[in-house]
Amino acid sequence: MRFLLSGVSAAFANGIRRACMSEVPILAIDDISLYDNTSVLFDEQISLRLGLVPLQAEDLDVFSRPEECQCKGEGCPGCRVDFMLSSEGPGMVYSKDIQFTDSGVKPAFDKIPIVILGEGEKLVIEGFATKRVGRDHSKWQAGTLCGYKNLASIEISKACDGCGKCIEICPRHVLAMEQGKAKATNILECSLCKLCIGECEAKAIKLESILDSFVFTIESSGTMPVKDLVARSAKEIKNRAMDLDTKLAELS
Ligand code: SF4
Ligand code: SF4
Ligand SMILES: [Zn+2]
Repeated sequence: MRFLLSGVSAAFANGIRRACMSEVPILAIDDISLYDNTSVLFDEQISLRLGLVPLQAEDLDVFSRPEECQCKGEGCPGCRVDFMLSSEGPGMVYSKDIQFTDSGVKPAFDKIPIVILGEGEKLVIEGFATKRVGRDHSKWQAGTLCGYKNLASIEISKACDGCGKCIEICPRHVLAMEQGKAKATNILECSLCKLCIGECEAKAIKLESILDSFVFTIESSGTMPVKDLVARSAKEIKNRAMDLDTKLAELS
């Protein structure tokens, strides 16, 4: 998803970016017991692949992070979801073969390949998923791609003679010719590279970055829609700010 965030400081924008990657809790497979693995892959490779399968939960909020759970991390239905995977070849084992005991939890995508099983080869696994954050391990990273840049402001003055050189040089196709003059028609794409300015002999282009507006590009791992991811990242920042506020009040 691409969106514009305006009227905030660079620190806040960066806070959203960082929270999307490392502070929004999601479910991921945490631990497995392999009862049978006669596939060509080592146990560790199977384990890694399962850990990286993004999981969706109908209601993520019913689960606690283990360290915040009433079981104090011992493991209970409030902080872990058990699963079973049992398959025999020939054929590909896919993410959809991971069967969770909670019907509200499932892999975000059905067809993530785990391993190809040959004739008679078997894979039998039990395990559980827990809810943690990207800061603990990248498999709990809800936002896989999170970046932003300042929004550009481009003004073309009357000095423009319509030569079109800026349009030709622009690698992002930001500029177009309208009524014989250059015009910024695709401003969100501008990377502020200034190539157009170098090309304009008439010095008709005024380019600035808007310091409190940010063009975000965020990709979710599939665990939740990007809209929810951004909302949850803002909530995490708010919770931390409130924690800090409480701690400061205790000091005074
Ligand atoms: S390079 Fe300058 S003069 Fe030529 S079209 Fe672009 S803005 Fe106008
Ligand atoms: S600064 Fe770069 S990306 Fe932006 S309009 Fe000019 S050439 Fe295109
Ligand atoms: Zn628990």
